Amino acid sequence: MDFSLPEKTQELIARVEEFVEGELTPLEPDFLGQPFRRLLPALKEKRARVKELGLWAPGHPREFGGMGLGLVELGLISEALGGCPFGHFVFGCQAPDAGNAEILHRYASEELQHRYLRPLIDGEIRSCFSMTEVDLPGSNPVMLETTALVDGDHYVINGCKWFTTSADGAAFAIVMAVTHPEAEPHQRASMILVPTATPGFELVRNVSVMGDEGEDWPSHAEIRYIDCRVPVAHRIGPEGHGFVIAQERLGPGRIHHCMRWLGICKRAFELLCHRATTRTIAPGKVLGDREIVQAWIAESAAEIEASRLLTLHTAWKIEQQGWRQARQDISMIKFLVAGTLLRVLDRAVQAHGALGMTDDTVLSYFYRHERGARIYDGPDEVHKLSLARRILRRYRQRTGAASPSVQR
Ligand SMILES: Cc1cc2nc3c(=O)[nH]c(=O)nc-3n(C[C@H](O)[C@H](O)[C@H](O)COP(=O)(O)OP(=O)(O)OC[C@H]3O[C@@H](n4cnc5c(N)ncnc54)[C@H](O)[C@@H]3O)c2cc1C
Repeated sequence: MDFSLPEKTQELIARVEEFVEGELTPLEPDFLGQPFRRLLPALKEKRARVKELGLWAPGHPREFGGMGLGLVELGLISEALGGCPFGHFVFGCQAPDAGNAEILHRYASEELQHRYLRPLIDGEIRSCFSMTEVDLPGSNPVMLETTALVDGDHYVINGCKWFTTSADGAAFAIVMAVTHPEAEPHQRASMILVPTATPGFELVRNVSVMGDEGEDWPSHAEIRYIDCRVPVAHRIGPEGHGFVIAQERLGPGRIHHCMRWLGICKRAFELLCHRATTRTIAPGKVLGDREIVQAWIAESAAEIEASRLLTLHTAWKIEQQGWRQARQDISMIKFLVAGTLLRVLDRAVQAHGALGMTDDTVLSYFYRHERGARIYDGPDEVHKLSLARRILRRYRQRTGAASPSVQR
């Protein structure tokens, strides 16, 4: 088994890391605790530079102006970008646009691709994904109340969504709505592209998350759809295929998230180790001289490495065998890496004492905004249930076989 990376990939990652460290990390003080739009002009300049360097939109197909990288390479880039809160944004591979572009690329009509996909990949417009509803469990998304009923050659959409990330300033939303109420639960919903300028698309508020409303790209909106009319031609994929498409989007999308989280882990780990070696806590003693801090460092290193290997293996498996074959692995990394992320962040914050609570380091931003890692794209519990069910199914199928623990 060869774990080494091709030289070309190593060089690519090194270029990305160099850009992040040299060009983006210095901008962080202007991001932490500041309105995002104030920083946007500077970020737009950085985006132009990334394009000049040929590093723009690493995961998107070449024919649409991206780099066309495979999932493993893209994962490694995601890790390199993850340590900076706006790394993905500057390289044109940020959520939710990256996932939405993938959906449009695979399923949207040529007309929709022409109008929305190209400008989305070019970074001229942004988008959002509107599935979770205020009053129903997002962890069981077949329970949807938002409807899109046909009236002539239009859908009329009614419903209330929230946590529609990046809706503020987005040009369009991909909305999950029930188009066939009488169908089987998994075949009731379709995805529909709704331009946000459509009458009846009402952004109620940016939801305050742990004290931060955010704005523009880093924000999560509550949205009302009130008799919102869009052409039937705005449906993405066949009618009733909403959940099938969502699965396809979320499978590889979890690799991006997990590798991004590992980039955050790496950054937090560096800060933890720096603090451990520089913070004097008694005459002649630094924090890292204490065994409890050494244990944090050892545990973090081991957890990060294990999470990273499993995630890269899962990315490789999806590349080789398709995401369906890797479902079990995808569930595993989703809760494993989210847990690693939060433990490593917590230790880094703890080691920084009061400083860890401030916006003078990037830790508290990550701590607040990444708590959601254990909730979005399937809460831990749902992934654990699904993984355990798959494992137990294999044992149940062996009925009649002797129990391995019983000696006959
Ligand atoms: C930062 C962030 C960004 C998001 N971005 C988007 C977005 O862009 N678009 C979008 O549509 N949605 C988005 N979401 C919403 C997200 O998808 C939902 O929060 C998620 O699916 C969980 O749904 P819920 O919040 O309704 O929790 P619920 O479904 O009410 O679940 C609450 C809790 O119950 C537990 N639970 C649930 N099911 C089970 C079970 N079967 N067994 C045991 N325990 C269980 C879990 O601990 C879960 O956290 C985002 C959420 C966050 C936090």
